[in-house]
Amino acid sequence: MNNTENWEKRWHPLLQEWVILAATTSERPWSGETLASGDATEPEWDPGCYLCPGVTRASGNKNPHYKKPFAFTNDFASFSFEAPDVNRNDPFEITRPAHGICRVICFTPRHNVTLAEMSLEGLLDVITIWKEEFLELGNNPSIHNVLIFENKGKVIGVSNPHPHGQIYATGFIPKIVQRELDSFIEYKANHGRGLMEDLVEHELRKSARIVCSNEHFVAFIPFFARFVYETYIVPRRHIARITDFSTEETIAYAEIHHQLIVKFDNLYNMSFPNITMLHNAPTEENERNENFHFHTEFYPPMRSPDKLKYLAGFESGGGNIINPVKPEEAADRLRQASTIHYKYR
Ligand SMILES: [Zn+2]
Repeated sequence: MNNTENWEKRWHPLLQEWVILAATTSERPWSGETLASGDATEPEWDPGCYLCPGVTRASGNKNPHYKKPFAFTNDFASFSFEAPDVNRNDPFEITRPAHGICRVICFTPRHNVTLAEMSLEGLLDVITIWKEEFLELGNNPSIHNVLIFENKGKVIGVSNPHPHGQIYATGFIPKIVQRELDSFIEYKANHGRGLMEDLVEHELRKSARIVCSNEHFVAFIPFFARFVYETYIVPRRHIARITDFSTEETIAYAEIHHQLIVKFDNLYNMSFPNITMLHNAPTEENERNENFHFHTEFYPPMRSPDKLKYLAGFESGGGNIINPVKPEEAADRLRQASTIHYKYR
């Protein structure tokens, strides 16, 4: 590593904060062994899994014998419109009801696959249900934001291996979405252009951090990545929300999303733990929100096959994240990873 680039603060223009690049230990290339822990044998259907077709959940509700992706309202939700209407204003105990709806999306009836192991058609079905859910939830005037995401992997606390994601539709805009929206608006006011369009153009010009791309989307590890394999998928044209994708863009999105998660799995020949966030414009129709540029952010917590990235003291308590690997190096590894899943080779 070139030492002039180490111990460097890199500006994150979306979150408007510094990220510290401290690549003090250069990693040896990985030897290529398969990690057994990520590949435990699971049955295709598990009667003990509350996400499998035909299973009765703890709430007493029975899942239909679904064949395509299936959505239901979480029985143990973090937000609800049934929240008691308590508004306390004691200066040290201010409260408001936590309004919202939490949905669970089963990606497929098959218990023992992951999104990366599913076909492109299967992923397209998932994108279709994301769009339908976004549209329906976003039309509710009490909902101001719809956050679509997937938590994947035991190491980030997902106990059920059944491929599934979640949607939190909330009566408020989550902090990071709000910060990004403010950044888009501020950049437009200062430069007369879109932040994401300029960022994509910059990354394409630099090329070192591009992972893959197609006619409509670019996947890259940003200059200011906070996590080793933090990757963005960004549409080349300004699109505020997933529901604004054309048919062609929807297919192009499915292709690049699929390519990227297959590459993640192929990095260490393991089902790669990951948090996937689809950042859409807040759902209330107004001119401000139209400045939001849709993008998907992936935050894999791995830094090597046996090493997780934890937010330790300085990061948890100080608030600035330290990235131990140069984004250019991580992008290079990801770019070279195959787009054919290791299980199917
Ligand atoms: Zn299951």
